[in-house]
Amino acid sequence: MIDLRSDTVTRPSDAMRQAMASAEVGDDVYGDDPTVNALEALGAKLSGKEAALFLPTGTQANLVALLTHCQRGEEYIVGQKAHNYLYEAGGAAVLGSIQPQPLDADEDGTIPLDKIAAAIKPDDIHFAPTRLLSLENTHNGKVLPLDYLQQAWALTREKKLALHIDGARIFNAAVALNVELSEISRYCDTLTICLSKGLGTPVGSLLCGSDEYIKRARRWRKMTGGGMRQAGILAAAGIYALQNNVQRLKEDHDNARWLEQQLREIGIEIVSPGAQTNILFIRQSAYHASLLGDWMRERGVLMNVAPITRMITHLDVNRDDLQRFVGLWQQFLSQHPDK
Ligand SMILES: *Cc1c(COP(=O)(O)O)cnc(C)c1O
Repeated sequence: MIDLRSDTVTRPSDAMRQAMASAEVGDDVYGDDPTVNALEALGAKLSGKEAALFLPTGTQANLVALLTHCQRGEEYIVGQKAHNYLYEAGGAAVLGSIQPQPLDADEDGTIPLDKIAAAIKPDDIHFAPTRLLSLENTHNGKVLPLDYLQQAWALTREKKLALHIDGARIFNAAVALNVELSEISRYCDTLTICLSKGLGTPVGSLLCGSDEYIKRARRWRKMTGGGMRQAGILAAAGIYALQNNVQRLKEDHDNARWLEQQLREIGIEIVSPGAQTNILFIRQSAYHASLLGDWMRERGVLMNVAPITRMITHLDVNRDDLQRFVGLWQQFLSQHPDK
């Protein structure tokens, strides 16, 4: 199967499974798991933060991040289509009584700073106090420019807000910009990183921040049921991923750009601005969208098909797979002239 639905579909490699099988473990709720401790230390080092916390999922990492930044009745500013507003089942509101203030992002994935400034509430009993700006990088595969992050950072310093980056795919941003992660994360107080997307682990995310912040986050992780025991088995996959699977993200980006070019050549409309990292969006008719998914599945390709279709490259699809995929799509188009 060629699976282009997401970069979460990757399977752990043999080498990663070896690392997991031989991991030294202990009870992490007691702080005794040396492999979890090593992963957290590595996450802290790479992000340039004092500390990091290992959590089972990105959703829980974002939830714990929000619970640690905001008290009940306080507010965070967030993108209208951000994962930690739209795709996390309202967790911050349900479990934290934290109010979101969603704002529309521009086409490049940034939320305009004047809109952010205008959404920060004055000290007035009518309003929920604004505590946090949450940005997402990459957002739909788009890389937030460093000068934008720098300005957002300056704005939050001036307005006394914290700045969180949902960096589920932040290593894709770092590789695309050809900078160290810390060059991006210097412009935030806290960030979350998914190990289970393009980096290829079966499970796991990191939340990085100051010592004091991570100490408080650890309590929220326990409360939300994320205190795992011999989690070194899972953390070993994370260490393996950070040591072996970061630089290779460039291959996924090159593959996405190559796919974009090939699809353009067979007449598929690419949604602007095209592939900046490992995510590509195309636009097609409702007629084609109604048929393509089943047609591809019967031929061994999995896609989430809609009039706007997202495809993601990752370490389990290579150039040959994509070549075959483009050939199939061309065949589909010749069998189904658009109505
Ligand atoms: C996938 C994703 C998450 C959540 O990760 P899970 O591990 O699936 O819970 C958070 N933010 C963004 C931007 C994501 O893409």
